[in-house]
Amino acid sequence: MTTIKLHNTKSRSKEAFAPIDPQNVRMYVCGPTVYDRAHLGNARPVVVFDVLFRLLRHVYGADHVTYARNFTDVDDKINARAAESGREIGEITAETTQWFLDDMGALGALEPTHMPRATQYIPQMVAMIADLIDRGHAYAAEGHVLFAVDSWREGYGQLSGRSVDDMIAGARVEVAPYKKNPMDFVLWKPSDAEQPGWESPWGRGRPGWHIECSAMSHDLLGESFDIHGGGNDLMFPHHENEIAQSCCANPKGEFARYWLHNEMLQVEGKKMSKSLGNFFTVRDLLDKGVPGEVVRFVFLQTHYRKPMDWTEKKAAVAEATLRKWRALTAGIEPTASAAAAVVDALADDLNTAGAIAEMHKLAAAGDAAGLLAAGQLLGLLSEDMGAWAKGPVVDLSAHEAQLFAARQAAMETKDFAEVDRLKAAYTEAGLEVRMSKTGVELVPGTGFDAAKLEGLE
Ligand SMILES: [Zn+2]
Repeated sequence: MTTIKLHNTKSRSKEAFAPIDPQNVRMYVCGPTVYDRAHLGNARPVVVFDVLFRLLRHVYGADHVTYARNFTDVDDKINARAAESGREIGEITAETTQWFLDDMGALGALEPTHMPRATQYIPQMVAMIADLIDRGHAYAAEGHVLFAVDSWREGYGQLSGRSVDDMIAGARVEVAPYKKNPMDFVLWKPSDAEQPGWESPWGRGRPGWHIECSAMSHDLLGESFDIHGGGNDLMFPHHENEIAQSCCANPKGEFARYWLHNEMLQVEGKKMSKSLGNFFTVRDLLDKGVPGEVVRFVFLQTHYRKPMDWTEKKAAVAEATLRKWRALTAGIEPTASAAAAVVDALADDLNTAGAIAEMHKLAAAGDAAGLLAAGQLLGLLSEDMGAWAKGPVVDLSAHEAQLFAARQAAMETKDFAEVDRLKAAYTEAGLEVRMSKTGVELVPGTGFDAAKLEGLE
């Protein structure tokens, strides 16, 4: 059996992965808060952990992997969205949840085994909070319940590698009169008549954010499970707080044994932000005509623990590559399983870039069946993701030869007018023009329009 190696944030090293129960490998990943469309950065962990899900299914069998990813459908951002739009909370969360599933489906992400909603797990959260109070790890104050970090000084901060004192000195902690220690965090808070709330031993209120992942992972995966994933922006405080809650409520369990964190996404070398004007959603890209498969391919070219830079140029090159691969694999049956080199690359801490390099080798060798099998393992080249590439494949070789000949002639005459005219026309048609001493390559970009090439010969 293939040995998967994963970089465990907990040990800060790459470890051989050994599941608690190979018959039921269990993974939990923090999901979205549902009040708006997912932006491109939100999609990165979805694609990263989808690849891990596929790899685990490949190695342990599709029926032997349980993957849970939550929807946070109770949150003050949702309440604010409801207040400003005048819409019902339930309507907003239901609509946004479906948007998320549709958009991530367009990126080829399989649906997890379980997709729990926080509002469906309030009794389990209340029970866990009551248990934490009984065990001396939490206290009620002014309608709130807080986790007491001083009750677990030995464990708190281990994942992110900081001490409680460092955290207090460095973090922007919310100071509140009812907190015993400024690092104590909210498990339960009171709701007013306008806010969503549930009856509890501490009055009508709603859960804090962190407790839902502890309660839902416990309910669905048990007190010890294999992998916990999320973006590295969640490491502190969210994951640190999940660990504190779960380990203190279930001291016999280990909670999650392997912690995986993906790095963040940038756009054209800059952090994506509304103020920089480079903020966009997955749906924005899809509506612009960028195929979901192209987005996925661009993501997978960068290792998940490195910052990933989204650029239009990468998208154009990815589209051209996928077009070629789809033409090569059309009507072909995949080999029974992906080549060992592809599986080995993925098993080495999800080296997706290495797996794609192997796919390039298979394509260069004309091994269409092998290429297709590798694509299936990575969630690429599938039939249902391929509608975008169904259009006739345009043979650009005549155009490439024409431009090359024009340039050869211009080198003699020193008159480049014809070269410039052709270059401008190809660019206008959505082609990227790459010229070297030995040849010309025309690469279709996302806005490529074959109709504009008519009459150019
Ligand atoms: Zn979480």
